[in-house]
Amino acid sequence: MSVASLCQICESAMAVDTCDTCGTAVCATHYDRATGLCTDCAAGT
Ligand SMILES: [Zn+2]
Ligand SMILES: [Zn+2]
Repeated sequence: MSVASLCQICESAMAVDTCDTCGTAVCATHYDRATGLCTDCAAGT
């Protein structure tokens, strides 16, 4: 698991975690800590 990478959604902030479902590296803005998912997955299908 890489920790030194950019958020793959906005590509402008450092990724702080990865989505449990798709594995996308995401920044704090695009990571839903309640579900452990990226905002794309948390938004639904
Ligand atoms: Zn982001
Ligand atoms: Zn995801």
